[in-house]
Amino acid sequence: MIKKILLAALVILIGIVAILLFNVLNFGSKQPPVETIDKREVNEKATGNYSRALQIKTVSPEDPADFDSTQFNLFNAFLAETYPLTDSILEKKLFNQFSHLYKWNGSNPALNPTLFMGHIDVVPVMEENIEDWDVDPFGGEVKDGIIWGRGAIDDKISVVGLMEAVELLLSEGYKPKRTIYLAFGHDEEIGGVNGAQVMSKYLEDQGVILDFVMDEGGAIATGIVDGIAAPVAVVGIAEKGFLTVELGIKIEGGHSSMPGPETAIDVLSEAVVKLKRNPFPARLSEPVKQTLRYLGPEMSFTRKLAIANMYFLESVILSGFEASPSGNALIRTTTSPTIFNSGVKDNIIPQYASAKINFRILPGETGETVTNRVKEVIDDDRIELSAPQDFTALPSAVSDVNSKGFETIHRTIKEIFPGVIVAPNLVVGGTDSRYYRNLTLNIFRFNPMTLNQENIKTFHGLNERLPIAELENAIRFYVRLIENSAQ
Ligand SMILES: [Zn+2]
Repeated sequence: MIKKILLAALVILIGIVAILLFNVLNFGSKQPPVETIDKREVNEKATGNYSRALQIKTVSPEDPADFDSTQFNLFNAFLAETYPLTDSILEKKLFNQFSHLYKWNGSNPALNPTLFMGHIDVVPVMEENIEDWDVDPFGGEVKDGIIWGRGAIDDKISVVGLMEAVELLLSEGYKPKRTIYLAFGHDEEIGGVNGAQVMSKYLEDQGVILDFVMDEGGAIATGIVDGIAAPVAVVGIAEKGFLTVELGIKIEGGHSSMPGPETAIDVLSEAVVKLKRNPFPARLSEPVKQTLRYLGPEMSFTRKLAIANMYFLESVILSGFEASPSGNALIRTTTSPTIFNSGVKDNIIPQYASAKINFRILPGETGETVTNRVKEVIDDDRIELSAPQDFTALPSAVSDVNSKGFETIHRTIKEIFPGVIVAPNLVVGGTDSRYYRNLTLNIFRFNPMTLNQENIKTFHGLNERLPIAELENAIRFYVRLIENSAQ
């Protein structure tokens, strides 16, 4: 009998191993062979132009009263003067004075247009941080082949890169078959409601349907994926949603010399702890599965084996993601208490306490499912939930990796950046591209630049900088992407 049981177990085991091996052997590479193209000459003034763009303080301030329209007017003038062909040949329309929409008419009106995005505004440099910068954050300084300044990475590289590319093509007499739009918002860092949202509405009213949209969001980096030595380019095919929930509680206060058994602060603290101790369930969403399908075949046998069998081994893969905050953000709706308010004096027990919790929502969930789960976890009717009038966004739809748009971007990356592995991914932050979801199913998020260990953390931070060679590659990339997609 025991012999029979062992034999049966052995047969089952062999069966499982056979399935696992079958899956791994059929897990082929998704990296098509593409020949790198010769490096095209770019305008020798491009670096100087980029530097000038960084010197203009197009800051989106925390407080709208601090908005400096002079700087945005300077940027308008900079674009018009620096790119005279683009300014005169393309149709230009300004929205709320500072957001730019350029239209380059294609010769074949039957083709749906493409839209390339960037944003003009940057995050502020805090007064107290200026002395920690090695250079003037708005000096546009170039030294040792590197350009320094707020906006170098996020996102003036896109604006300048696209304008240089279009100006170059125009100077060569290039005429696209497909209409091309360039859309540069001026308030991306504070939600994009006066820029991207208005431009998208205008296009929608015109009945425009886009072939694809290209925005910021991904980049190329080496050493970001465990088990892959080659540089990896990640192209965002979806982005997480954004929701802030305010928790509030009112309990009679009193003097701190005679505290009751429970105070507003106690109850609220407990609720926040419960939320942190009960994270949202981890799962592999569609965009992350796509990342694994593209990267898995390039990895070592053991990793490939696990990924090729992700339906059996999902928990193993999830625990790998959970090991780092950046990995964890890809597999669940995250919970971040960001503001905690209560109390005015050290000897008074406050009767009111409130906290704001910021959630980044995984595709497949909604604001409602998140709020319902928050109520369930807190399980305390005394706590009131409200959604403050802050910015809220649903997770995006997932763009199709089999679309012509993705394939064109994939091929163009390989033509310009040799040896790069391309993978779709989930963007954990938010971009202005969310406003264009009514105009196309195909929204891709990628900046054509290679980031390294030193500069990867500098955007929105100190000493934002980028090698000049990256600007030149970005221009080459946009030129090629226009050529590849506009025919
Ligand atoms: Zn940005």
